Amino acid sequence: MKLEVKCDFCGNEFIRKERYVNMHKHHFCCKKCFFEFRKEHPETCKPPESSTMLNKIKRFAQMKLEFDRRQRKTRIEGIANEKN
Ligand SMILES: [Zn+2]
Repeated sequence: MKLEVKCDFCGNEFIRKERYVNMHKHHFCCKKCFFEFRKEHPETCKPPESSTMLNKIKRFAQMKLEFDRRQRKTRIEGIANEKN
């Protein structure tokens, strides 16, 4: 079954699947409205899955940074050892 919902950003009415409407608190007619709305209300559109995903990405970026730093350090030490 499909339901008519109103875009939470621009007010446009559009059709969405009922299951999808029940799943989401806010509805947007297009991606642009979603991004604009999220820009103005960053706290309202924060599903827990994506925040943990973001944490994973952050942790991964930190790990990579640490790895790069360690590799650079060993490379420098290697050069220093060659000189000696
Ligand atoms: Zn819209």
